[in-house]
Amino acid sequence: MAEKDIVIIGAGPGGYVAAIKAARLGGKVTLVEREELGGTCLNWGCMPTKALLRGVEILESLETGKEFGIQAEGVKVDFAKLSARKDRAVKVLVSGVGGLMKANGVEVIKGTAQLLSPRTVQVVDEKNQSASYQAKKIILATGSVSAPLPIPGAQLPGVLDSTGALKLTRVPESMVIIGAGPIGLEFGTIFSALGTRVTLVELLPQILPSEDEEVASALEKSLRRFKIKVLTGSQVKGIEESAGKKLKVSAVTGEGEKDFEAEVVLVAVGRKPNLEGLGLQEAGVRFGKKGIEVNARMETNIPGIYAVGDVTGQWLLAHFAFAQGEVAAENAMGREAQLGSVAVPRCVYTLPEVASVGLTEKQARDKGHEIKVGRFPFSANGKATVLGERTGFVKIVTEVKYGEILGVNIFGPHATDLIGEAVLAMGLEGTAEDIARAIHPHPTLTEAFQEAALDVDGMALHIPPGKKG
Ligand SMILES: Cc1cc2nc3c(=O)[nH]c(=O)nc-3n(C[C@H](O)[C@H](O)[C@H](O)COP(=O)(O)OP(=O)(O)OC[C@H]3O[C@@H](n4cnc5c(N)ncnc54)[C@H](O)[C@@H]3O)c2cc1C
Repeated sequence: MAEKDIVIIGAGPGGYVAAIKAARLGGKVTLVEREELGGTCLNWGCMPTKALLRGVEILESLETGKEFGIQAEGVKVDFAKLSARKDRAVKVLVSGVGGLMKANGVEVIKGTAQLLSPRTVQVVDEKNQSASYQAKKIILATGSVSAPLPIPGAQLPGVLDSTGALKLTRVPESMVIIGAGPIGLEFGTIFSALGTRVTLVELLPQILPSEDEEVASALEKSLRRFKIKVLTGSQVKGIEESAGKKLKVSAVTGEGEKDFEAEVVLVAVGRKPNLEGLGLQEAGVRFGKKGIEVNARMETNIPGIYAVGDVTGQWLLAHFAFAQGEVAAENAMGREAQLGSVAVPRCVYTLPEVASVGLTEKQARDKGHEIKVGRFPFSANGKATVLGERTGFVKIVTEVKYGEILGVNIFGPHATDLIGEAVLAMGLEGTAEDIARAIHPHPTLTEAFQEAALDVDGMALHIPPGKKG
């Protein structure tokens, strides 16, 4: 049996970053992937959705253009071209990961891997040939899959998950999206902007259930601009085929039982760890419904076996998988690294965007913190006005005693880029005063963050005294 130093199973953000890190630290690394390098993120998640969203942003900018005296007439979207460009962007990114593996001397094996024991990995390739390897260290990075919806009709043709929605070859005339989390909202934004009649059905009382209430309600209002119909506190009970190749979605809503007809139904009710066929029992690796259990070193209960990314069921986000991947690789290489309590940003790519880190106002109060809140609207920010993107606000939640920032919630233009500063501030245990005193470049959207920090003590400069953002 061939011997390997480090075998990594799964080449998504968790696995491929672990591979690079371990190789940079001098390890001989083998990366096993059954589909494409880059995993869900590059192939069926973060990147293809953003490529489509970029098209939608361009389309929207033509709408804003009217305000600037720029009249674009006869604008048409060629969805086949938009999709093809998305596929090309994915190809570039996937081949970029391939290049990085080569440059770092990582051996890539195509096949499905399974643990046979705490040190043995079996790989079965596409031709059903199997090979087994003895590994000194193993990193499990098999990601997640769409969570199924256990209701009648969930298997009907036309009922899709996010991967299915990315494979659509034309813009559907109507779509019901079940679940108003980040994935449901991104697809809702994309397809409604392209002309699909979208109905969003969410079980909980607010869209983006774990985000700030003010942010969620502002986003809900802005979704109306795209004519997205939003039903919160509503439970889908079943889906059936209906006349004209349509699907009928039955839901119990706040206004009683209702049926919605649509050409396509997108199920976006979350994701679950990909544990199937991984041989966890055989290797004695402890796992639960949420995923594989790991400590702060990313090590499982079996010494020398690590797990990173979505399969650990913590934050199902690519950047968290990156961070976990680095920690696991360092430990596998004999260093000592931990992922302690870190500030993890959460981004929702709607138009405008939502981004947050740390606690929402309600979560901070529920945890018993004595807090102060600073707000600043983008309508009072010079750059936002110049851009014609004045919707939204920045909200900073701080604790009273030391002024430490507990959370930042942004709804507005480029929120997902702006949140980086908040992540750094929180990582350095910064205060609102630190943010307020830092000289921010002018004119930029970052000034809204500085002003929100000033507003914590009612000292925002570009809104009238006493007026809250
Ligand atoms: C539509 C959508 C949009 C998203 N947008 C964002 C976003 O904007 N930002 C963000 O941070 N996150 C986003 N995510 C989440 C992000 O994609 C995941 O958090 C991230 O991909 C997790 O990385 P991972 O390495 O844990 O797993 P994955 O990326 O899922 O990779 C796991 C890999 O393991 C392989 N594999 C599985 N089992 C085996 C096996 N037995 N043998 C060999 N290979 C195996 C799979 O083929 C896959 O390639 C999005 C997800 C979706 C679905």
